[in-house]
This record gives sequence, structure tokens and C-alpha cells, in this order.
Amino acid sequence: MSVRVVARIRPLLEKELEKDIIVRADRVEEGKPLTLVKIPSPKNGAEEFSFAFNSVYGPTTSQEELFTAEVAPHMKALFQGLDVTIFAYGVTGTGKTHTMRGGLRLADRGVIPRLLSNVFRRGKKIMKDTNGATTVTVSLSYYEIYNDKVYDLLEPPEKRTPAGLPLREKDGKTVVVGLSERACDDLKDFERLYIEANNNRVTAATKLNAHSSRSHAILRVKVTQTTGDMIRESTASAIDLAGSEDNRRTDNGKERLVESAAINKSLFVLSQCIDAIARGDKRIPYRESKMTRILSLGQNNGITVMILNLAPVRSYHLDTLSSLNVSSRAKRI
Ligand code: ADP
Ligand code: MG
Repeated sequence: MSVRVVARIRPLLEKELEKDIIVRADRVEEGKPLTLVKIPSPKNGAEEFSFAFNSVYGPTTSQEELFTAEVAPHMKALFQGLDVTIFAYGVTGTGKTHTMRGGLRLADRGVIPRLLSNVFRRGKKIMKDTNGATTVTVSLSYYEIYNDKVYDLLEPPEKRTPAGLPLREKDGKTVVVGLSERACDDLKDFERLYIEANNNRVTAATKLNAHSSRSHAILRVKVTQTTGDMIRESTASAIDLAGSEDNRRTDNGKERLVESAAINKSLFVLSQCIDAIARGDKRIPYRESKMTRILSLGQNNGITVMILNLAPVRSYHLDTLSSLNVSSRAKRI
């Protein structure tokens, strides 16, 4: 198992002011790569905290640079049969969706479309290089976890049942029972599905008077390589987690409270799992939320990349600190 934990600081947005910048990428010493995030103490402005990561990406980092550095290197392992998980963690408004999904312009595309494009390209090359002796097929599942319930995003919201889909353990992995899976031949195919699914997500959230930043979105890309009667199967997962902010501070209604309790619970359980793994505990509380059961951090022998998204400005100060605390502990896994 390998877990990499990296931080990405987004640029200032138009409405934000230069003078409010408090989060910086730094290095241990001159000539070394950026591995530190520095932020002032909320109590004493002169005191500064420093958090270490495997790598830190500053506000000028492009989507392509991030993909090339943190995701592309694992694509070979995926085709060798290892599972690869990329997940974005952070406060709402820090760039998780930008990092994972990205914008429509080619240069703005995030990890997900780039990953799919890479997978299709590799698949075609393998089929060509083996003269068709090996066939490569790609299929997708896409679902969200909202209030600790799992909903299929490849199905229209009308088909949702209040209880959502159940989880089951199979061959040491957690699977969602009854989840749909769609074959996908190329990037165009993928994009059609992905846009439709994201619309389902927004429609479902609107019906509940909620926002999609309050659910975890999990995309699973299954790669199946078949040579004669030998089958090799592996999965790349791309996860856009719900915002890690403490909703108690911003709550306005009762419904929000129930909702944020469930969101906070799964993210709280995640932070407990991270601590337990980092300490080397035998008992890791995965089972206490669906998200952590599915994420199975440190459970499999695949590759996991945790991307902590950060906003550079003071208005996020306390939430930024708490997200830095959780994710920098994950580095010890
Ligand atoms: P989150 O999903 O964490 O709530 P978003 O991805 O929606 O955050 O980002 C919040 C805003 O910041 C959006 O307007 C997004 O376009 C912008 N943004 C985030 N990261 C970047 C980046 N690296 N470069 C440019 N704009 C960004
Ligand atoms: Mg988002």
C-alpha cells in the first residue's frame, strides 16, 4: 500500500484581496522542492505553523502539471492490476471540484477527464501492440454518498429509494450492491455519461434543497484486460469529498444540522481512521461510515493519492487549519 499526501493552494479569486493571503507554499531549504504549507496561528499573528506534505503545489500550478506529477505516474501500475485512488479533501470553495472535474476548456480539464483519456490511450495501445490478443474494456460507475446513504448517479433521481444502496464486502473489498455499470469506449462516450450523471447529482440535491458540495462523489473506472482466459481487472477511483468545513459555525436551519452531522461524521471518521493508521493501531474505525468503508484507506495494496485543496485567504483560516491538521497526519500512513 502506498499513500501520498499532497497539498494544492488555489489562486486568489476575483473577489478576494491580495492583502488577505495567509497560506504559502514553502521548502525546507533553498533548492529543495516545495513540501511545506505555512500559515499563521489564528491566536498570535506572529507565530507561524508549518505542515509537511509529500509535495505542495502553489497557485500557478496548471491542471496538466498536477496530473503529470501526481496521477500519470500511477497509470502503469493500474494496468498492472493495482487499484489507484485519487481523492480531494478540503473546505468548500478551495478547488476540489476544479481539481477533480475541472472546467470545460481543454487546459482547465481536471484529473478525471485526463485520467480517462490516459486509460483509453493505454488501452488502445495494448490492443494494438498485442495485435488484438489482449482486449481492454473500460466501464464506469458513479455514485454519491449523502447523509451516509449511497445513490447511483448513473440513474435518474426519480429511481432513488430513501434508504439508498446497501454495501457488502466481497473478496476483501467493499462493493455497492445494485450499482449500475456502463461500458465506455472513448472520451466522448465518457463525457456524455459524466455530464448526464452530474446533472442527476444537481437535480437530486435541488429537490432536497441541498448543495452537491455536501455529498461525496465517487467515480469508479474499471479496467478489464482479457487475454485468452486470463482476466486482469483493476479500478481507478476518483473521489470529490464533501466540504470539510465545520458546518456548525454556519448553520441556519434544522435540516442543515442533520445533514451536516452526517457529513461531518463521515469526515470525522475519516480523520479517526487516518490517526489510527498513522499510530499503527490494529483497530481502524472504517466501518463507522459508508464513505470510509468505500475509501478503505490503507486497507488494500493499491496506490492512494490524497489531494488537500486549500484557499490562500484569511476568511478560511480556522477551517484551513483543521484540514491541514487532518491531512498532514495522513502523511504518516
Ligand atoms: P470546491 O469543489 O472545493 O468547493 P471549487 O472547485 O468549486 O471548490 O472551486 C471554487 C472556485 O475556485 C471556483 O470558482 C473554481 O473555478 C476556482 N478555482 C479553484 N481552484 C482553482 C485553480 N487551481 N485555478 C483557478 N481557479 C480555481
Ligand atoms: Mg465542489
